[in-house]
Amino acid sequence: MNAPRTRDSWQALADGLDIRTQAFIDGHYVDAASGKTFDCISPIDGRSLGQVAECEAEDIDRAVASARRSFESGAWSEAKPSHRKKIVARFAQLIEQHGDELALLESLDMGKPVGDARNVDVAASVRCMAWTGEALDKVYGEVAPTGPDELGLVTRESLGVVGAIVPWNFPLLMAIWKLAPALATGNSVVLKPSEKSPLTAIRLAEIAIKAGMPPGVLNVVPGFGKGAGEPLALHMDVDGLVFTGSTAVGKHLLQCSGRSNMKRAYMECGGKSPNIVFADAPDLGKAAEAAAMGIFYNQGEVCTAASRLLVQRSVKDEFVAAVVEAGRRMHPRHPLEPGAPMGALVDEGQTARVLGYIEKGVSEGAKLVLGGKRADVVAGGCYVEPTVFDEVEHGHTISREEIFGPVLSVIGFDDEAEALRLANDTEFGLAAGVWTRDISRAHRVARKLRAGSVWVNYWDGGDMTAPFGGYKQSGNGRDKSLHAFEKYTEVKATWINLDA
Ligand code: NAD
Repeated sequence: MNAPRTRDSWQALADGLDIRTQAFIDGHYVDAASGKTFDCISPIDGRSLGQVAECEAEDIDRAVASARRSFESGAWSEAKPSHRKKIVARFAQLIEQHGDELALLESLDMGKPVGDARNVDVAASVRCMAWTGEALDKVYGEVAPTGPDELGLVTRESLGVVGAIVPWNFPLLMAIWKLAPALATGNSVVLKPSEKSPLTAIRLAEIAIKAGMPPGVLNVVPGFGKGAGEPLALHMDVDGLVFTGSTAVGKHLLQCSGRSNMKRAYMECGGKSPNIVFADAPDLGKAAEAAAMGIFYNQGEVCTAASRLLVQRSVKDEFVAAVVEAGRRMHPRHPLEPGAPMGALVDEGQTARVLGYIEKGVSEGAKLVLGGKRADVVAGGCYVEPTVFDEVEHGHTISREEIFGPVLSVIGFDDEAEALRLANDTEFGLAAGVWTRDISRAHRVARKLRAGSVWVNYWDGGDMTAPFGGYKQSGNGRDKSLHAFEKYTEVKATWINLDA
């Protein structure tokens, strides 16, 4: 195993990077049909990383046509599962082999610490691809219970052409959560990365070809939401649309499906996740560390961020003091520094948005107990201090809206009923945590929480074996696990008359 990289060796790798910036259609890198490009700015220091192809409707048409041709050819869609499995496994291995480069691209493009990009994002992407490849030939159809004169077969078939629109907070991993099950089930894909973080997706397309994926099976079309995302969502020859991003855009995409060809549409959207700490938590110190990590990890740009901390009043003051201490240790550093606990926010727009929420917290009367300002880490970069508000009221804007930044809202509660009422009174339902030593209470509360993932006595549990997704306006459908295959397949019932 290689020694962990130092900041200098990450910088040396960055200096020698050959950054791909074109779209990838039909197995080749191409410019946008219009020749247009957009500037890809690193939030680490505000420097340009390159001019990226700005795809629009004409490019989407070309990419969808390529995906359709590859699908109809059967080269991938009708390949034996054992063959697809080999290619998907090779894809996973190649992602690992290119792990340093992909981690670095991710860090430069959207500002997260490169250590996290390598050890979490790339590692989880490899696991997701490998796990899905392993699983793809273990999904059987069904035989319906019938009388002796007929046979009823229930089979799963690929959707066809899948459009995938992904966000910027975990650009590689969110793309892989879609690509792995879509490709494993034989679909062809048109992937639109976020305009704020297109680089790893663009690189991935080439790696897929190297793994043996036939041309046209994976196309990547960088561009903006309106210019590239919307034509994909409205396309009449796209069979399925999968999305991770904000609730507002997710709702809009469901309408696009309805306005066009009723393509299957699955949305993974936002959250405002409650982390409930009872006074009898097994270890309040560990719970405080986890509460800080739960909101400050990835600069708080996490759909499952533990953004609402609900603490039982009898321990609230000492608990908040411990969270503040843990938060202080997570001050942002240069993202290429190994072990940086936080890096840069994705861009100036997001930085201004987060600072705006902090101002709102103060003006609505919450008590600022940590941070609250832009942090001066690298000139020209987008850094915000870990920020904690105590004495937040449930009606405050910072308690209700998804901030998507390093801002924690603390609310006190007296008993279980009040904790549950506060936790569930939100339009979102992505994740929730509960800390208690009382096993009956743990089960009672977990059962009543309206969220797709519930964690007891830790935050952010889970792996590829369990589904991930939201209740309410956090979305529909599930990523990860065998449940992910449901989004990428149609179910067919075939009836055969044996008495003919
Ligand atoms: P966003 O909704 O602004 O953008 C997501 C993607 O949609 C981007 O590729 C964007 O270009 C595209 N898009 C924007 N407008 C569009 C339009 N009109 N038509 C088609 N495409 C359009 O979200 P974001 O700011 O990139 O990401 C942050 C959001 O993602 C947060 O709300 C976060 O909670 C959510 N998220 C959810 C999960 C999950 O699994 N539930 C995971 C990560 C992030």
